[in-house]
Amino acid sequence: MEKTKVFVLYTGGTIGMAPKHSTENDSPLVPQSWEQLQQYMPSIHPDGYFSKVRNIEFEYESFTELLDSSQLDITHWVQMAEAIESRYDDFDGFIIIHGTDTMAYTASGLSFIFQNLAKPVVLTGSQLPISHSRTDAIMNFSNAIHIAGAKAFGLQPIKEVTVCFNDTLLRGNRCTKASTNVFEGFVSPDYPPLAELEESIKIKTRNLLPEASGAFSINTKLNPNVIVLTLFPGFKVSHLQKLIDDDEIDGLIIKTYGSGNAPCTAEFIDCLQQAKRQGTTILFTTQSLQGGVKLGKYAASDVFRPIGVISGGDLTNEAALAKMMWVLGQNLQTKEVEIQLQSDLRGEVSS
Ligand code: ASP
Repeated sequence: MEKTKVFVLYTGGTIGMAPKHSTENDSPLVPQSWEQLQQYMPSIHPDGYFSKVRNIEFEYESFTELLDSSQLDITHWVQMAEAIESRYDDFDGFIIIHGTDTMAYTASGLSFIFQNLAKPVVLTGSQLPISHSRTDAIMNFSNAIHIAGAKAFGLQPIKEVTVCFNDTLLRGNRCTKASTNVFEGFVSPDYPPLAELEESIKIKTRNLLPEASGAFSINTKLNPNVIVLTLFPGFKVSHLQKLIDDDEIDGLIIKTYGSGNAPCTAEFIDCLQQAKRQGTTILFTTQSLQGGVKLGKYAASDVFRPIGVISGGDLTNEAALAKMMWVLGQNLQTKEVEIQLQSDLRGEVSS
């Protein structure tokens, strides 16, 4: 069987964590080294199943500092993208082992950073550490190997940034962390799974992105001057006003109610108008898990259209943030920013 090469980047997360004090099970979980993690996965050893039977060659790299994913920022997205770019031609697929807390953000960020991705990039992690007697880590990691090393299993390669969790493969920029404790940690509320990994692996070919044309590259220009505001009853516009007066924000994402509704007070409208005049791009997303923004469905959203607010449609909040940072990073004219934000760039939004 022809050799398949899979690169694994270990960034941290529960999957490799253990209690800080080994004698106290309840002490806080902290990341452990790759060497400790891989002891629990004999199938990836050089004489294990994946290498011996499937002829998969693995290369591993760990972040110098292994992180709880709540500690990640966008410089880490760039670090991951560069690690993959530098090996892109030499490997058939890529796995990023990552904490679940910000996995959907990283998957979304990478989906925009990668241009013409034509190989699988799979993020995975787990709810229970790999050392736990009932861990979900081994299944999640094994499934990710099947997706990243598709060729070795006679499977169709899924050439996208995906999240592999609980026997399901989701598009990375469509999913969101939905649970801190059940094994179904992620959901993709507005887009169906790309594959189901039960007794057999069923790839949903018609849900996959079209083949990329053109050479692979990364575009890591991101604008960090983006803020996300969640509306709530009793929200004081004066707090937002202070931020707008400071004029340091290039992108404002507002998590509105339902299909894009927000308080229609003169104070709020004036504040958004001022932000627009100052050149801030404003995008409405929704706090609802499923469905999306439809500006104009209700009078309570229609009033924001003349201001030039952009509808996020059914973007997840993670994808909205990553898309805003990436589009604003491209130094485009205002009109082009609006077009890009409303276009489906990587399968992240329904048209
Ligand atoms: N706090 C952990 C992390 O995101 C949670 C996990 O991995 O499940 O790194």
